[in-house]
Amino acid sequence: MENLYISASPVAGKGLFTAIDIRPKQIVFRFDGEHIFHEYTPEFAVQGDNWIGVGDREWVVPQPESPVLYLNHSCSPNVFVNKHKEIMSWANIPAHSELFLDYSSTELDPFWSMKCNCNALNCRHVIRSFPHLPLVTQLQYRPYISRVYWDRERQRTFK
Ligand SMILES: [Zn+2]
Repeated sequence: MENLYISASPVAGKGLFTAIDIRPKQIVFRFDGEHIFHEYTPEFAVQGDNWIGVGDREWVVPQPESPVLYLNHSCSPNVFVNKHKEIMSWANIPAHSELFLDYSSTELDPFWSMKCNCNALNCRHVIRSFPHLPLVTQLQYRPYISRVYWDRERQRTFK
């Protein structure tokens, strides 16, 4: 974590940057915090801006000083959250690049959505939970994220 730093992000406010080159599939850091369990409702979906979905109806409230709080969304991400609550690199990330997570890869709440202006060529403009991702994107993300996100039976219940 000493190789990470917070700086102004061209995308949104402050962002999380790496001071060193990161190779693909490296564990960048781990986060933890209180686990929240709740049913999906429209009222509940607007709570917890900083919570990270880690399962079905399950979120983590990151500890106050966690770098994960500065991890911005991009529709073209370079890190993922794996099932061990570790931030893992997806691609080669050159030193002094911002780390980006696709928030759709950590959210199953069918009521959740967020406007996006990430400027990625494939920007989806409105981002929603994992089952709403294009199938090709789901398949790209699948090897890196918790199994609960690509459970086909569970996805069907959302439609
Ligand atoms: Zn976007």
